[in-house]
Amino acid sequence: MTTRKKLIAGNWKMNKTSADAVALVSEIVAAVGKQSDVDVVLCPPFTSLESVGRALEGSTVKLGAQNMHHESSGAFTGEISAAMLRALFATHVILGHSERRTYFAESDELINKKVLAALKNQLRPILCVGETLAEREAGSTLKVVQTQTERCLEGVGRDLAPSVVFAYEPVWAIGTGKVATTAQAQEVHGFIRGLLTKLFTDPVAQKVRILYGGSMKPANAPELLAQKDIVGGLIGGASLEARSFVDLVNAATAVV
Ligand code: PEP
Repeated sequence: MTTRKKLIAGNWKMNKTSADAVALVSEIVAAVGKQSDVDVVLCPPFTSLESVGRALEGSTVKLGAQNMHHESSGAFTGEISAAMLRALFATHVILGHSERRTYFAESDELINKKVLAALKNQLRPILCVGETLAEREAGSTLKVVQTQTERCLEGVGRDLAPSVVFAYEPVWAIGTGKVATTAQAQEVHGFIRGLLTKLFTDPVAQKVRILYGGSMKPANAPELLAQKDIVGGLIGGASLEARSFVDLVNAATAVV
């Protein structure tokens, strides 16, 4: 089996002023900023990207954004382009988060445009897919994930596919304290890897990292991270506090 370096990404959502963000990042860097066994990415709000980027200088921790527009520039009030993120030394961008899909009506077609724009600008998309509770209860989890995956990856070639990081995030587990069981999570992760094999060939699919997201905490992380196709975590709530986030990075290090 290909060895894929684990990745722990923190999604701070709409939390932390720039000063709060720098204080948090300093604690995280002091604890895990020199290690390179696990990739660590922090995704603060746009307003803190520059200050967090500066605080990350000289560390192994990378910078990510939570969203971007697909056009490179122009009359799009309130929006931010991939080139602007690159200019702040961001390496990753979360795309298609369920909160963007739900509250900002982002469709797979729009997310696809963003994925292509991110890749064109050497940003790695952290592409989120996942079913709602109603969809799981209706037995359509795999169908929903398949549709999201295929539509969001339209036009992505084999050469760039390994740059995409997937995040399987069951919507019913995000911020709710309800975690998918390891069997539920591994089933969907394995399914996504199978889809990627069909789309891009097995050697390419084996390189893609698929993270789990949804109430991941230090207590449940070791079991989830030990699953064959779970190659890290996208962390919301537990990334807002240095202790829990560092414990999650350490949990990933322990199963490398
Ligand atoms: C997320 O928003 O991506 C997430 C996984 O949140 P939480 O960890 O709080 O469930």
